[in-house]
Amino acid sequence: MDIKLSNTTASRYRQAPTRMSGTAAKNARTPCVPASLRRIPRQRRQGFPDFVRRHWYRLVPLVLLTLTVAILIMIAVLSGNKAAGKLPFVDESKVQSSVFPETIASLPVITELLPEGSTARPGILREIKFLVIHETGNEEAGADAAAHNDYIKREAATHELAWHYTVDDKVIYHHMPDNEAARHTGDPEGDGGGIGIELCVNKDGSYDLAFKNAAVLCAYLIDSYDLDPGEIYRHSDFGGENCLKIMDQTGRWDEFKALVRDIIE
Ligand SMILES: [Zn+2]
Repeated sequence: MDIKLSNTTASRYRQAPTRMSGTAAKNARTPCVPASLRRIPRQRRQGFPDFVRRHWYRLVPLVLLTLTVAILIMIAVLSGNKAAGKLPFVDESKVQSSVFPETIASLPVITELLPEGSTARPGILREIKFLVIHETGNEEAGADAAAHNDYIKREAATHELAWHYTVDDKVIYHHMPDNEAARHTGDPEGDGGGIGIELCVNKDGSYDLAFKNAAVLCAYLIDSYDLDPGEIYRHSDFGGENCLKIMDQTGRWDEFKALVRDIIE
């Protein structure tokens, strides 16, 4: 049935809600559930994920603060190790004192240490674990051990690159105490544990003699620091470039290691 309200009745219905008294309006908004029961679903909604979703903007400063404190603690620990002149996690009792030979098997060793505290020689003590062999890659006439000694000293103030010995066909230069870490592999393990030895490949020198001299030096160092004779590695064993252009690429790496063993025995 189609009931038509008179204009007066229709307008009264339309006006009714807005004319509700204060108490009536309040009752209209209040559900018919006791307050104690109304809390139950609200408690369920206050579970942890919901709490995070609702209050994440309040948690952001807390998370940032926690991260900042953690980073500051890490920096303090690492700089403490650096201030003490040690790589992190180095066993102090295993840091040997360095040898400074004047000759090795009648081969002269010239010791010209880089300035202490320079960029190339930060003075970080570590345990000597192995030897790392490099070639200088400079075939120019005159690029011998003395020239590389001049180079490393000239660059020490501003360059991190450093190594311990340079060997040519007639002499060995000693640039750094063996118990200090030097940046010659670009790898924390290689730099942290290895003595860096550079072989000269200058065309006005004898590579064969430099090869033999380097083997003599390796045998001496293995004996001095009581290392395993097998603890000789190439730069490329630490993920860097293969700088052994002559030794490795002409298949003489195994020959070099065998020669070191022969000299030790
Ligand atoms: Zn190298």
